[in-house]
Parts: sequence; C-alpha cells; structure tokens
Amino acid sequence: MLILMRPDASPSQIDEVMERIRELGFTGHPMPGTQRVAIGVTGNDGAIEPAHFSRYPGVVEAVAVSKPWKQVSREWRPEDTVITLAGAAGNAQFGGGRFGVIAGPCAVENREQLFASADAVKAGGARVLRGGAYKPRTSPYSFQGMKEEGLKLLAEARARTGLPVVTEVVDTANVELVAEYSDMVQVGARNMQNFALLEAVGRLKKPVMLKRGLSATIQEFLMAAEYIIKNGNREVLLCERGIRTFETMTRNTLDLGSIPLIKRLTHLPIIVDPSHGTGDWRSVPALARAALALGADGLMVEVHPDPAKALSDGPQSLTPAKFGEMMESLRAISHVVGLEL
Ligand code: PEP
Ligand code: MN
Repeated sequence: MLILMRPDASPSQIDEVMERIRELGFTGHPMPGTQRVAIGVTGNDGAIEPAHFSRYPGVVEAVAVSKPWKQVSREWRPEDTVITLAGAAGNAQFGGGRFGVIAGPCAVENREQLFASADAVKAGGARVLRGGAYKPRTSPYSFQGMKEEGLKLLAEARARTGLPVVTEVVDTANVELVAEYSDMVQVGARNMQNFALLEAVGRLKKPVMLKRGLSATIQEFLMAAEYIIKNGNREVLLCERGIRTFETMTRNTLDLGSIPLIKRLTHLPIIVDPSHGTGDWRSVPALARAALALGADGLMVEVHPDPAKALSDGPQSLTPAKFGEMMESLRAISHVVGLEL
C-alpha cells in the first residue's frame, strides 16, 4: 500500500500515520518527494484496507499496490501451483503441463449407477471420479443426495477403480466427514461465498476444488480462493462453470474468456466444467475441446450410464459412449497443444 500525504502535511501528521501503521503491525517507509511525502507500507501478507488511513489528517489517498487476492496472485508466487491426487490407477495432475479429466455422475444414486459410471469414466481415460453425495438443489423437493451413504459408495468405487474421488461439501458441519472419504473436496457455485465453509476447507490438508459462483466476478472468485489459502491450504483448484447472463437458451454462459486471464493473474490451476456451463450434453464435447485448446488445466464433466433416468442433471450428462468419443478427440488435440491428458 502507498499512502499519499498532502503537500502541506505537517511532520506530526506524518508521524500520526506512521504510528497507525505500526499499530496495525506493519512497517511504514516515508518517501519524501519534491512536492509531498508518500509512505510505503510493507510487512502485510494480505490486502490492507485503504479505509484504515483515509480519514487521517494530511492523507490524500491510500492506494493498494498489490492485489486484494494477494496470495493467489502470480506476484506472490510466479510459478504454477500443481495439484496431484494420488490414485492406485495412477496419479491425477492439474497444472504443470498436464490436463486432468474429472468425470462421473452429478449425484451418487445407488451402487450400480455409481459403479457403472466409475468403470465407464475410467475406461474412457478420466483420472478422477466425481459424484455428489450432498447435493445443493434449487428445489427442496429435488433429490438431495445419499449423504453419508453416498460417501461410502464413493469410497467403494475408489477401491474398485483406483481412481481418486472428488465430492462436494455443502456445510461446515460435515467438512471433516466429507474430507475423510474424498481425495479432493468440492465447494460448489452456490457456496463460493460461504465464508465459514471457505475457512473450514482452508484448514484441511487436502486439495479443494472451488467452483465459480453463479454471479461471481473473477475478482470475487479469486477472493474466495484467497480465503482458503489464507487459512493455510495452498492447494486450490479453480473451476470455471459458467455464470448467469441475460441468455436463457443455455443453462449458464460458459465464460471461457476467464481462463487465459485467470492463468495470467494467478498461479492456481483452473479447469472447465462444460456440463454445468451449458446444461446440454450435445454442447459438452465441443466446449471440452475448446477448454483444452485454451490451455485450461483440466476438465470436469458429468457422465451417467442412463442419463434419461438420472436423478439430477440428466440433460447435461454424457453417456459412457459419448464420453469415450470425447476423450478420443481430446487426445488428438492434446498432442497439438502440448498438454498431456
Ligand atoms: C456439481 O458439480 O454437481 C454442481 C452442483 O455444480 P455447480 O456448483 O457448479 O452448480
Ligand atoms: Mn450436476
């Protein structure tokens, strides 16, 4: 932060600001210029609010020099963060030249459905199995998920296939339970600004997949990631899943333009979810190829053995056969873009 003092600021006003900086636990560096004094502030691990200084006499303006999502930024860490999930069938990697594919049903519905999905996504080349046990549904009358039973089935599917699993946590009360059964926990779009939940997953020793909120700006998305990192968990996998716009013919507007920007701004890996991003399985393979060509670090897609009977998100779920075809086409592109699948 840089605090600009008025040209006529008195030495005692400058001292007062220096004292306030010390009180806040930071270090002030007065820089006398020909017109005025500016004071640089250092020693902060996060953003400092300009409001701490704006009402002090003699202060013109307090200007943030670094980003409010400081630890998420590339300035804080220039090299890419790489997230690896260990699995008996091989490791999954996001970032560092690898394109990780996460696939599976929207929700865990029963053992047969989950195992059929898990076998299919493994056969197609997915590295991580997904499946919601706790479902944040818009309607309280919709299927809410199998909860702990679903977590147990996911653990069985992991043992069966050797694929690591990711599943959503919707409540601070069961963060530990969900983490116990999964290799990565998901914070969904509806909870992107559930700050208590972000803090709780920030205390985990497990990667967190953070999905962009329904109406979240990129700045808000990165601030949500900052909450997790600030609490000690540096393994945050971002997921662009589309945002609400005036368009109604797609479920969401998949903001692919965010990918190169976010990759410039942060060191965190970012994947794309074209399933929730479009709401229609027919659009999923094309957008998955776009995500790979763009340089995203991976993909999350919904796959169901019988989408017509799915208890949630059937319209956007790929059949195992369509998933296999999509993966084939991704493999062809991966050589061109230099990202390993
Ligand atoms: C999901 O991944 O199943 C999900 C609920 O997605 P989102 O939070 O992006 O809507
Ligand atoms: Mn879903």
